[in-house]
Amino acid sequence: MKLPKELREKKELTGSSGKGKRCSVKDCNKKAIRSLNENKWAIYLEKADLKYDENKNRKIYLCKEHYKDANKIRKSEEKLYQKKGFLDNSTATRKGKWDY
Ligand SMILES: [Zn+2]
Repeated sequence: MKLPKELREKKELTGSSGKGKRCSVKDCNKKAIRSLNENKWAIYLEKADLKYDENKNRKIYLCKEHYKDANKIRKSEEKLYQKKGFLDNSTATRKGKWDY
């Protein structure tokens, strides 16, 4: 099951409020290329050893490099969850996973 996630994220970022954002990672002030759901991504950033500044929108903005780092973690995690999800409660797991 493949969703055009990349497209969706891009759309969100280039939409109404996405312009001119800076990377949320501490000490990084590069231009953000992604705006991400904090609930979903906080854990990946943590695992990638990235500290970020929280904001009230509950969004995490990432520059290209940091997105790459976090995404690497995300992919390995999702692989794990996917396996688990098929074994037990697949609908619940999948719902959370694709909830953008
Ligand atoms: Zn950055």
